[in-house]
Amino acid sequence: MSETPRHFIQQIIDADIASGKHQKIVTRFPPEPNGYLHIGHAKSICLNSGLATEFNGQFNLRMDDTNPTKEEIEYVDSIKEDVRWLGAEWNEHYYQASDYFDRMHADAIKLIKLGKAFVCYLSLEEMRLQKGDFKTPGKNSPTRDTNVEENLAAFEKMTRGEFDEGKAVLRAKIDMAATNEYLRDPVIYRIRKVEHHNTGNKWCVYPMYDFAHPLEDAYEGITHSICTLEFEKHRPFYDWVINTVNTPAKPQQIEFARLNITYTVLSKRKLLELVNEKHVSGWDDPRMPTISGLRRRGYSSSSIRKFCEVIGITKHNSLSDVALLEHAVRDDLNKTSPRFMAVLDPIKLVITNYPEGQTENLEAQNNPEDPAAGSRSIPFSKTLLIERDDFIEEAPKKYFRLTPGQEVRLRWAYYVTCTHCVKDATGKVTEVHCTYDPATKGGDSADGRKVKGTIHWVSAEQAGDVEVRLYDRLFMHENLNDLAEDDDWRKHLNPHSMQVIRGKVEPALLKLGQGSRVQFERTGYFCVDKESTSQKPIFNRTVSLKDSWAKQVVK
Ligand code: ATP
Ligand code: MG
Repeated sequence: MSETPRHFIQQIIDADIASGKHQKIVTRFPPEPNGYLHIGHAKSICLNSGLATEFNGQFNLRMDDTNPTKEEIEYVDSIKEDVRWLGAEWNEHYYQASDYFDRMHADAIKLIKLGKAFVCYLSLEEMRLQKGDFKTPGKNSPTRDTNVEENLAAFEKMTRGEFDEGKAVLRAKIDMAATNEYLRDPVIYRIRKVEHHNTGNKWCVYPMYDFAHPLEDAYEGITHSICTLEFEKHRPFYDWVINTVNTPAKPQQIEFARLNITYTVLSKRKLLELVNEKHVSGWDDPRMPTISGLRRRGYSSSSIRKFCEVIGITKHNSLSDVALLEHAVRDDLNKTSPRFMAVLDPIKLVITNYPEGQTENLEAQNNPEDPAAGSRSIPFSKTLLIERDDFIEEAPKKYFRLTPGQEVRLRWAYYVTCTHCVKDATGKVTEVHCTYDPATKGGDSADGRKVKGTIHWVSAEQAGDVEVRLYDRLFMHENLNDLAEDDDWRKHLNPHSMQVIRGKVEPALLKLGQGSRVQFERTGYFCVDKESTSQKPIFNRTVSLKDSWAKQVVK
């Protein structure tokens, strides 16, 4: 059993099962297919599918596609792929809200017959002006008391397309003096003369979200309709629809706090703008907080699920530190990814006492903490490449890497002692020279002599050339939700969010397929990009080994 306390939604369901209110619980994830899913959606997916699994219930995936203008097949496909990749299983329970249009329309007619809905001819602007406010009750629509027959005929005319867009709407008849503004005779059907991706030109009236959503839930027998806090104020109307239409199932709406993350925007509209304005290469750009972006960046689905578990479910909006997400992936990849050697800022290391022209193959373990990960061989020769910053000519105290007179371990290879360096005319170091101790093969001394530093390397001749894409946060501002109104969020884009460099890697790294996740020893976690080919290998940095961002902020 898990030791974390049960969150408030689990407690509600526990009580519903205990009281016999429900024998089987049904949850759903209802994305509008107008963009790709982001990490905020992952929180909702993990919550809803997780509850269904925990309570041995059912999880539905439903495209909330009642809005005719925005849906695109590309989005539907990407949503399915991302939900599946996250490990949420909907089995045969895949639905499209637009498949319910006939039923919703019939339920609208039912409301008219009950005297609970009427056709209104006010313009949107007039309706807005007559809505009143918190202190002032709204004004009744001039047609509020039209009789049922007239309303049925008028709604029929709307449905046949005999009105232009905006000339008539169907409104629920509730209470223009209600303190909850969503109960002031809200619009439930409007005219839209546009084609729908699923129903084509069959309809020219479409249900409003607040009317459609409770019905969709009820039609599917959803027991717990979980949504984000913004919908709290909509709940009275949600319940009104369920109770007035008197649907057989009576879903319960429950609100929880949406996910917000530092240095990130989580709004489909803004993400779409990033794509359209070419601030990123697409929805799956590895800097995007989309599920497809995180996947391409090298995030595992288990790390995202773990993150969603750690942040928890509450009723208070808050901002989660992106470092927590990075921690989740680091932690996961630390356990699962094999280690390799890659040099990202190479400088030559010449082993002066190593035979010219000789190459030997040394054995390296793929994951020293996990013997099951196996081993590989790496070529070693007289001329190696190491990281430029692993050598300092005049080193400070406690610098345990290469500096004249100091001995270090070359990972999986030998102990080497730095003798001197070679510089060009400008004083820039071009080569580091050292001698090796043949008795330390494999990286251990026979006489028990210890070294404090271990550095990674590749053999210059056999090393492969790769493109390495180093990513940093897309935004420089911590909380993008608290910007002043006149402050454009785009201004906070980090101009250095992607740096492309050339790296040198050990041969084994060239054999990996797209999507493979690895650790470059001492550097970070990387994955083979989807555009990578054997002619042009590309590695994305998923996350560095340590958090370098914290240091930069201090600077
Ligand atoms: P956006 O605000 O980005 O347009 P949305 O909420 O309009 O997102 P939907 O497709 O309607 O997008 O969302 C599907 C589901 O995902 C909804 O149930 C919604 O509550 C949930 N969801 C969306 N964003 C978040 C978030 N940041 N945290 C948690 N759940 C979210
Ligand atoms: Mg929405």
